[in-house]
Amino acid sequence: MVFTGIGASSGLALAPAFCLTSKRGPVGRASSRSFEEAREQLKRQYDQSIAALTGAGRRAEAEVLLCHREMVSDVLLEERVNQGLIQGLDPAAAVEKACHILCQMLAQVNSDYIRQRAEDLKDVCSRLISLLCQEELPSLAGLEREVVLVAHQLSPADLATADLACIKGIVLAGGTLTSHIAILACSLGIPAVVGCPHAVEAAKSGEPLFLDGASGKVECGLTHRRKTELARLVKEEGERVRQLAQQALLPSVTADGLPIRVESSISDSRTAQKSVEYAADAVGLLRTEFLFHNRESLPGEEEQLQYYLEIARQLGGQRFTIRTLDIGGDKPSPCIPIPKEENPFLGTRGIRLTLRQPEILLCQLRAILRASAQADIQVMYPMITSLEELQAAKQWMDTAKKQLAQEGLPFDPAIREGIMVEVPSAALLCDLLAPHCDFFSIGSNDLAQYLLAADRNGECLPQLGSYLHPAVLRVIQMVLDRAAEEGIPCSLCGEMAKDPLATPLLLGMGLTNFVVTPAAIPALKEGISRLDTGVCRRIARQALACSTAGEVVRLLQMEKGQTVPAR
Ligand code: PEP
Ligand code: MG
Repeated sequence: MVFTGIGASSGLALAPAFCLTSKRGPVGRASSRSFEEAREQLKRQYDQSIAALTGAGRRAEAEVLLCHREMVSDVLLEERVNQGLIQGLDPAAAVEKACHILCQMLAQVNSDYIRQRAEDLKDVCSRLISLLCQEELPSLAGLEREVVLVAHQLSPADLATADLACIKGIVLAGGTLTSHIAILACSLGIPAVVGCPHAVEAAKSGEPLFLDGASGKVECGLTHRRKTELARLVKEEGERVRQLAQQALLPSVTADGLPIRVESSISDSRTAQKSVEYAADAVGLLRTEFLFHNRESLPGEEEQLQYYLEIARQLGGQRFTIRTLDIGGDKPSPCIPIPKEENPFLGTRGIRLTLRQPEILLCQLRAILRASAQADIQVMYPMITSLEELQAAKQWMDTAKKQLAQEGLPFDPAIREGIMVEVPSAALLCDLLAPHCDFFSIGSNDLAQYLLAADRNGECLPQLGSYLHPAVLRVIQMVLDRAAEEGIPCSLCGEMAKDPLATPLLLGMGLTNFVVTPAAIPALKEGISRLDTGVCRRIARQALACSTAGEVVRLLQMEKGQTVPAR
């Protein structure tokens, strides 16, 4: 049986299924303890998992669990459960009903982030129900053999106690590309397919299950012959990935010998570890939003300092670029209230937000500066749209430096400051911004979104077409040229940087610094090693002369066939 879901984390996996799915609802199950008792026990369980994850440096997961722990005491949940109890419902049934009602309320809101909160709430409630019924939740703690995890939902709490080496793949009935588990699987390099309910229904624990995390394909009920075929495929793919990873340890150069920097984009110390494993030349982008997600109160200066120092330890002295908080748009945070806006992507986002709430920026800059006394760090400001914004951000940097100097705290006084060029106005003004910057990094996701007036998460444009639109290419070329003229380094991050189709084009446009997720590094380096810069320049010239994204895509697809020798 073959099913198709959403490919959330690429890679192939074939292993016995391990179904974490309880197919029974609470209806008919009698609670053997009170709601209050179950709640207290669940909080204790979360405390243990949070402590274990924090101890193991798995900070992002610990933070998700902190948020789940807070949900256990949520007033709305308590009110709804009490209503159910007053109506005479059994506690487990009361929790289920409360969860259902609250999730329906959340589903009204048109936001991926809020929908994710509903997933979190379901996870918390299903744990409460299991505790109420004194039912053992299937646990991953003792997992000793390789499996593909199959579940309706999975939260980082489920993975907290698991030996990740045993988890070869993940298949979920629910979830989206932006769900915590999809992001986590991606950063850990575990192949995953989400949004595939029929596969979850069909899977049987112990029976082999195959998944392709790139295409979203899941196969189960395999014949012996099919299993052998798929095992060969997985082995070949594994071999290819290992070879790529080996090659990736070498510095990246084009076929004609031009050195190219391949840097990583990361979000915490675990992905920092991946960055080292995949031999990134540096960390080109540390997204600090993770530190502010799923929590009700802001992280203080000390907590931020420890977070940066932990990453510095993982990187062993390598340079890393910390982007100041880019919250807002599709990335709100409960700890930073933003008034409701009609168009959040065009509203209070990135540097615009932190300049309006400068205590947040100042606290972050102080933590970054203090970390810079012990590590090679540069700072990057997101969503800059004008010279005034850049100057204001730099003034806060000066204030932070003055304060620390007065307090006698050490920092790097010459810390390098740069900007993301991801808003058209910044791109058009980049010659004016350059003298005030030590570096640029082009954010291809947002630059395409704002140039084309098309939501980067929406379906207005095919994802592939967006950054290959001739208007986007012209602007990227302009920024690269201005940066070269001004003599400041310019990297490019976002989806475009890791798209193999775009590699020759970007090289031909003069890009020599790519910033990609760690897992994308081997394939990118391999692609670069096969390309000749002369050919790439010709391809870039032709692409820049195209009239439509479709023409660009066809050109690149044709060239890919010609410039990459068959294996
Ligand atoms: C981008 O916009 O391309 C980028 C790298 O930043 P983010 O995806 O975090 O907005
Ligand atoms: Mg961006």
